[in-house]
Amino acid sequence: MNFQLTQEQEMLVESVRSFVAKELLPHEEAVDRADEVSPELAAEIRGKAIAAGFYAFNMPEEVGGGGLDYLSQALIERELSKVSWAVHVFVARPSKILMACKGQQIEDYLLPCVQGEKVDCFALTEPGAGSDANAIKTRAVRDGDDFILNGSKHFISHAGHADFAIVFAVTDSYEHNGRKRNAVTSFLVDRNTPGMTIRRGPKCVSNRGYHTFEMFFDDCRVPASKVLGEVDKGWEVANAWLTAGRVMVAANCVGQAQRALDVSLQWAADRKQFGQAIGSYQGVSFKLADMATQIRAAELLTLHTAWKMDQGSMTDGEAGMAKLFASEVLGKVADEAVQIFGGMGLMDEGPVERIWRNARIERIWEGTSEIQRHIISRELLRPLLR
Ligand SMILES: Cc1cc2nc3c(=O)[nH]c(=O)nc-3n(C[C@H](O)[C@H](O)[C@H](O)COP(=O)(O)OP(=O)(O)OC[C@H]3O[C@@H](n4cnc5c(N)ncnc54)[C@H](O)[C@@H]3O)c2cc1C
Repeated sequence: MNFQLTQEQEMLVESVRSFVAKELLPHEEAVDRADEVSPELAAEIRGKAIAAGFYAFNMPEEVGGGGLDYLSQALIERELSKVSWAVHVFVARPSKILMACKGQQIEDYLLPCVQGEKVDCFALTEPGAGSDANAIKTRAVRDGDDFILNGSKHFISHAGHADFAIVFAVTDSYEHNGRKRNAVTSFLVDRNTPGMTIRRGPKCVSNRGYHTFEMFFDDCRVPASKVLGEVDKGWEVANAWLTAGRVMVAANCVGQAQRALDVSLQWAADRKQFGQAIGSYQGVSFKLADMATQIRAAELLTLHTAWKMDQGSMTDGEAGMAKLFASEVLGKVADEAVQIFGGMGLMDEGPVERIWRNARIERIWEGTSEIQRHIISRELLRPLLR
């Protein structure tokens, strides 16, 4: 096996790293304190990301995106996540699901998202349907050339900045192994569509400034031309994208964990107690050794999984393993970083308490750790169970 990055990948990592240090990190603390990103700052970051060629790096070249392989994308995600999501989200990665756009949708949604003219959000989760996405209750009923949507969503990230939402709604149901399953359709719903309202959700401890929203659909009329993909085939459109997204979350976790280790190493070398640097005590240095070892394992697993995705041989279980392991390593590493910093680790004057808070969401969104374990164990057992 060849573990060597190409020269292009090395250069890519270097340029994203310096972009993060110069253009993003200086804003993190103020954004976190204000729990807000001003429209001016959002536009500034977006503009600089476009100029640097990082915007929409996840999208294929034929639609104007970066056209990068998944391994390169994972490397960029790892670097971007050394700053809070609230800031690096403006180096946008449009929902890959938009590649299902057809005809006029390409001009109206896909291309503007790649070019930085429009922003999307992904609206699946509902108050009664989180891990069990099949339990969504938002319904879309055909009425002539339109669908009429009724229901609600919550926890929808970034909807306040979005020009449109990719909304999942039940359009039919069917029996599968004696259980009722929903047939779901995804719709492109413009921000000011009558019948759709958006409201800021509760404050979140992770990634302050990166908000979630509640969305309400009250006889919201959406033309059939706004169906993304095929009617009743919403899961097919979503699943391909969601699985790849989990590997990118794993890469985000590796980057955050590496940042936690870097600041911990420096602190362990600088902070003196009992006349010596605390890093000279095994109680601290062994923590650093464990953190570095766990991060290395998470990184190798993540990059290998991204590489397998490039080869077309990655399974859902493998994507789940990367997300599960990297997010749990991040949780442990962030917690140990607080311990190494002592009381200062809990104060909002340094990045450690922010890293610790931001780490917590990673075991929940894009499928909780428990759901990843379901996916992995199901894949292992399926050939054996009859
Ligand atoms: C900050 C934030 C941003 C988000 N952004 C978006 C977004 O942009 N778009 C979107 O659609 N959604 C978004 N989500 C939703 C996110 O994907 C869900 O929160 C997540 O899938 C978990 O659902 P839940 O919170 O309802 O928890 P639940 O599903 O209620 O789970 C609660 C607990 O029960 C466990 N559990 C549930 N079922 C099982 C089971 N079968 N076996 C074992 N354990 C189980 C879970 O693992 C968890 O520990 C966001 C959430 C947050 C917090």
